[in-house]
Amino acid sequence: MMGSSIFHFLILILTLQNIVSALQTSWNNFENDTEIPRIVSREEWGARAPVFREEMKVSPTPYVVIHHGGIPCYCHTQNECSEIVKYYQNLHMDDRVWFDIGYSFLIGEDGNVYEGRGWNSCGAHAPGYNNQSIGICIIGDFSDSLPNAAALKAVNALIEYGVTLGKINENYQVIGHRQVRDTECPGEELYKYVQTHPRWTSTPTPRFFYHFRVSIKRTTKMEKLAITLILFALGQLVICSEKETFAQPNIISRSEWGAKPPTKRVGNLGIVPPYVIIHHSATDGCTTQAICQSRVRSFQNYHMNTNKWSDIGYNFVVGEDGNVYEGRGWGKIGAHAPNYNSKSIGICIIGNFVNRNPNSAAINAVQNLISYGVSMGKITSTYTLLGHRQTKQTTCPGDSLYNLIQTWPHWSSHA
Ligand SMILES: [Zn+2]
Ligand SMILES: [Zn+2]
Repeated sequence: MMGSSIFHFLILILTLQNIVSALQTSWNNFENDTEIPRIVSREEWGARAPVFREEMKVSPTPYVVIHHGGIPCYCHTQNECSEIVKYYQNLHMDDRVWFDIGYSFLIGEDGNVYEGRGWNSCGAHAPGYNNQSIGICIIGDFSDSLPNAAALKAVNALIEYGVTLGKINENYQVIGHRQVRDTECPGEELYKYVQTHPRWTSTPTPRFFYHFRVSIKRTTKMEKLAITLILFALGQLVICSEKETFAQPNIISRSEWGAKPPTKRVGNLGIVPPYVIIHHSATDGCTTQAICQSRVRSFQNYHMNTNKWSDIGYNFVVGEDGNVYEGRGWGKIGAHAPNYNSKSIGICIIGNFVNRNPNSAAINAVQNLISYGVSMGKITSTYTLLGHRQTKQTTCPGDSLYNLIQTWPHWSSHA
């Protein structure tokens, strides 16, 4: 009799304890907390420069997407957290070949916020939402437990701060990463918590947004409206960061650009090349396929007629029209960088990049070409990226482009 009431009493205590701990970790706890979170800047945590940045398309953002790191590594000091954030950034940039760490912000159990892509740049964390959400990742794996109160408080403070800054829409909605794609993220326990957020929605609908490659300036208002309605009807969504991941480059074949056959057979690379060498053509640039093709033909003529090479020297040529033009192609020995021709892929960007950088179309095309080459086993996954000037006395690929490639994944100062 006695034993049983003690037992019931214990059950009651345990239940109360559960309720209390649940209350402690409720979003409402932080409701009137207007504290500005401490944001550790990229410089402070030692970020690498992004390869490229794209502006957020819908701002203030209507969505906040919650993630966990998914790796059971936790941190409770700024030093520990900075190390983990650097590790995430390397993973995203080197293994996934993204422009930068994928998230807008990260949060450690030290209670600090770590700046990822920040408020203004498109993220790479939630397909369909990258151009209209702030992606917040809590460092650690939260499948079986919740982040500590310091981290949860920081999430809340960051969202509130974003609203005050006008970066997050005041009518924002919160979702978990698993609501937009097949993933466990943000972990079972954290996801349960996310669902208790007053702004959580079970039916997120990304705002319609499209990128237009055709010149929209030349279309009339009525045409624009018609196109918008058609695309809307098709439900077509073009998501900015998608092309960061697995986009295949658009390769224009030799026959398409009107290549001459090589004067003699071009030798095969005996190995998967461990180097990628970047060149510029030091000529005028081109932004249409027609003009780029004529440039590529002129390079071939010059290499064959003047240099007396058997073919165009580069493995690939990239234009600011966003196309890749097949030169000698994959698996072939080039004629572009003495001592490296038999162990590299030579990529030339059409234009003179002494004082300016190639446009984003060309940069994307080069990045996609390299990732594609790696995924096809045509370039080693541990390749080293070099500028032509690192292999011989030359100003190629131009000061501006040379500075830029030093921020790209795999660039090395050691030729
Ligand atoms: Zn996620
Ligand atoms: Zn060069």
